[in-house]
Amino acid sequence: MEKYSRGHSDFINDADLDALILKTKEDKLRIRDVLSKSMSKVALSAEECAALIAAEDEDTVEEIKEAARKLKKEVYGNRIVIFAPLYIGNHCINDCEYCAFRKSLRTTVRKTLTENELVSEVKALENVGHKRLILVFGEHPDYSPGFIADTVRKVYSVKSGHGEIRRVNINAAPMDVEGFRIVKDSGIGTYQIFQETYHHKTYEKMHPKNTCKGDYLYRQDGLSRAFEAGCDDMGIGALFGLYDWRFEAIALVKHSLYLQERYGVGPHTISFPRIRPAHGVELDSRYFVSDKDFVKLIAILRLSVPYTGMILTARESAKIRNEALGFGVSQIDAGSCIELGGYAKGKEKNEGNKEQFSLSDTRSMEEIVNELIQTGYLPSFCTSCYRLGRTGKVFMEYAIPGFIGDFCTPNALLTLKEYLLDYASEETKGKGLDLINNEMQKISDLSRRKIVNEKLKALDDDQRDMLF
Ligand code: SAM
Ligand code: SF4
Repeated sequence: MEKYSRGHSDFINDADLDALILKTKEDKLRIRDVLSKSMSKVALSAEECAALIAAEDEDTVEEIKEAARKLKKEVYGNRIVIFAPLYIGNHCINDCEYCAFRKSLRTTVRKTLTENELVSEVKALENVGHKRLILVFGEHPDYSPGFIADTVRKVYSVKSGHGEIRRVNINAAPMDVEGFRIVKDSGIGTYQIFQETYHHKTYEKMHPKNTCKGDYLYRQDGLSRAFEAGCDDMGIGALFGLYDWRFEAIALVKHSLYLQERYGVGPHTISFPRIRPAHGVELDSRYFVSDKDFVKLIAILRLSVPYTGMILTARESAKIRNEALGFGVSQIDAGSCIELGGYAKGKEKNEGNKEQFSLSDTRSMEEIVNELIQTGYLPSFCTSCYRLGRTGKVFMEYAIPGFIGDFCTPNALLTLKEYLLDYASEETKGKGLDLINNEMQKISDLSRRKIVNEKLKALDDDQRDMLF
């Protein structure tokens, strides 16, 4: 079997990207042109993204943020999709400088969930209302494609009352095409691979050559191989703080364009985690991204890849997450615990040396849902698109012209009501039901509204999973 996908080429040239950043000067007129292109929901080029990045003047940056806010409203409305990470095992044969799971760190307590522990973790997640998980794995021969696929099947099979997991995403090492096929057959949603840094030199520094992850190109090509194996739902990302954020932002745009041009499908999601403190990890802070730049970066990514979901995890504080929701972010995790076996144990009992890094936003699911509703967002537990085959090219067709609102808002209302009936406190339930009533009035197509209303009523009669 070929190591790389057919015709793969490295789409990042460090010198060219560094030069692009250097030569692109702030130009207000150009920025306005780029913003209007973006508002017509067309993906931006690397040069156009660089033009937005060059904005320094505060008013211009505000214009960019305002445009991102508007675009987000148009494409995604006020929905915020909720998920949780579930760490399956932290054995790892790699030695990434920034990660507490790296093999040379002897103080990390190594663990892979047993089948019983896996069931307990999934039940604990279902019992607070989760429907959508991302399973996270270190890279290790124990975590073969077959093992990952079996884990996914097991997760889908666990039920607790009305609780069930309806979508399982994966964050794991890149595989060969056959490996991706095996995992795909277990019914996964998104396969997420972060390049960490697209800058070759920095990549080399962070990932020793003699480790699997030391092969930059193999990782960069990972999602292309996934596509060849039939996975058309891909998540890209970079770990911000390893190299210049401007370089990484443009590289993410280039990766999106590369996938879109080659396969007709861009990434389903983009992640932009910032480095977090982790036990046994000491990093050079030279490239750490300030809050101010981070918010600007999120707005620019929103505008550059308008059709793509943007994920901001609990690595970030509640304050930054709340701010970022306004102009770009469409998916957040809630009530997260990244210690292996931590959900079933409960927050207080966790120790810290089984964690990959420390989390900043430690609010519970109930608190997050309550706050989202309070601030006018519509928490969504929807998993419909991929279950009804609206992925890849089909998803792009829905997303780009904005048709997605026809499906997403009704599904958000239905899944929120399920959550409110089954898991919420009385206070959250009251607020949430009011929100659902208000949102129903906004559905202008009356026959659509009638059908949604009938499905909402069926939930009161104990029916569940009334998806569109
Ligand atoms: N082992 C697989 C890999 O490396 O692709 C997947 C799982 S890894 C546990 C998930 C992601 O966590 C990594 O891709 C990296 O971006 C992120 N990560 C690692 N260390 C981190 C840290 N100290 N702070 C924030 N994110 C970190
Ligand atoms: Fe292993 Fe992934 Fe951590 Fe690297 S980032 S040490 S590959 S778990």
